[in-house]
Amino acid sequence: MLLARRSCRCLTAVTPGRAELQLKAAVIRCCSTVQGEVRVRFAPSPTGFLHLGGLRTALYNYIFAKKYGGSFILRLEDTDRTRLVPGAAESIEDMLEWAGVPPDESPRRGGPVGPYLQSQRLDLYHQTAQQLMDAGHAYYCFCSSQRLELLKKEALRTGQTPRYDNRCRHLQAEQVQEKLAQGIPHAVRFRLESGVEPLQDLVFGWTHHDVAKVEGDPVVIKADGFPTYHLANIVDDHYMRISHVLRGSEWLISTSKHLLMYRALGWTPPTFGHLPLLMNKDGSKLSKRQGDLFIQSLKRDGVLPEALLDITTNCGSGFITNRIGRKIDELISEFDPSKIINHSALLDMEKLPEFNRIHLQHHIEDEEKCCLLIKKLQEQLQQVYIAEIQDKEVLQEDYIRRVLHLRKRHISFLKDLLSPAYAYLWVRPSLSSQQVAALTTEPQHIASLVLKLISERGEELTVDSLSQDLKTLAKQAKSTKYREVMKLLRLALSGLQQGPSVVEMMVSLGAAEISHRLQKLL
Ligand code: GLU
Repeated sequence: MLLARRSCRCLTAVTPGRAELQLKAAVIRCCSTVQGEVRVRFAPSPTGFLHLGGLRTALYNYIFAKKYGGSFILRLEDTDRTRLVPGAAESIEDMLEWAGVPPDESPRRGGPVGPYLQSQRLDLYHQTAQQLMDAGHAYYCFCSSQRLELLKKEALRTGQTPRYDNRCRHLQAEQVQEKLAQGIPHAVRFRLESGVEPLQDLVFGWTHHDVAKVEGDPVVIKADGFPTYHLANIVDDHYMRISHVLRGSEWLISTSKHLLMYRALGWTPPTFGHLPLLMNKDGSKLSKRQGDLFIQSLKRDGVLPEALLDITTNCGSGFITNRIGRKIDELISEFDPSKIINHSALLDMEKLPEFNRIHLQHHIEDEEKCCLLIKKLQEQLQQVYIAEIQDKEVLQEDYIRRVLHLRKRHISFLKDLLSPAYAYLWVRPSLSSQQVAALTTEPQHIASLVLKLISERGEELTVDSLSQDLKTLAKQAKSTKYREVMKLLRLALSGLQQGPSVVEMMVSLGAAEISHRLQKLL
């Protein structure tokens, strides 16, 4: 957030004139008939697990690639060795696959411009740093961390923004040789020049940030020999032939630095589009510490990948419509980059159950996906109700399929069916004769009337027709009132004295299961 706010202060938006508007329109037009090969990338650092914000960046890149017949590349930027999180790299790729945004080229899949892990491309960065040094665009810096720390403290004390004072820029060649010979640890810094050209961003339009005026020369190779983000990022985007860089707007501030490096190396930069930040509904920053926003946790909680893609695009922009329930193919066909606006996208996680309900319904209606849901539910039921399920008939595929189809408009997550409210579906109740006797003296008579009704209706049970039928049926009881008939049925079907309406329970249980439970009354 700090970075984004800072970026907004430092970046000057060039006032849109007629020419600018025409040019923006031209860029967008050119985007919709994108020329040449489209290659986009998602470049996370495996310093943490995949988060909803990261998934959104990956998703926009994926959609962009698919829309324009291009390739979507996953590159892992693992040069900050001190912050690597074990398992994060594998998990990021697993989660992209799970979410339905699989990369075409990646560390695991390989590809024509690999390796896709920055730690395996060190030679390329050194070679490029050397190229910058040879052309006078970079220099060795021997400043110790203590000196840099002092500079920082001093700046803060005097209310200035800390920046490197470019001291080593001015070392003479002999001094450099001498320090190298002494084995003094050194970094390589890029010489920032003034006069960077304005940037035309696909989303933010024209911006201009004369970075040399506000920042010291950035390190491009650290003392440990690893490149910093800035160098590795542009080297890879260049050698991986990335055509469009679509990344979070927190990186907009760095882009002018990148443009200076492209210029120094004589390379053509890609087209940039910075995606507005994804924020909480209240406008606060999405924090990586919000554990519930990690894709792995959402997956574990039963959130469907389609619901995640839908909610993250729904709260943002870039699409012709904004309806709920879009699948990836629809997202691709409705995507229009000229519709991405630079306002933050506000994510309302309270709406997630509703998104999930709609996509769960799609899964239930798709026979192949429904089979997977059935298997999953069978496993979960056996775990949750292991002691209570005496009769395995409730675990049969057909029974579970019926339940899923009947409840599909009411459940947001598969696990809702494991909640106590639905326990009656899986656990056949045991009845005591005292409980029954308290309600009626003619349980067999009522049970046989209901059994007859059920066998006439077969599986055609609906809430409306059953409500009517049961009213008529209760009149045939000799000494039991309608209310008691319903209480008796509730008891026999669920063992409960309160709960969902009796007819609703009957519709969900289906004829076979009702008959089974009513037999006990006979
Ligand atoms: N490694 C950066 C990150 O973690 C990549 C930024 C970019 O896409 O250039 O987000």
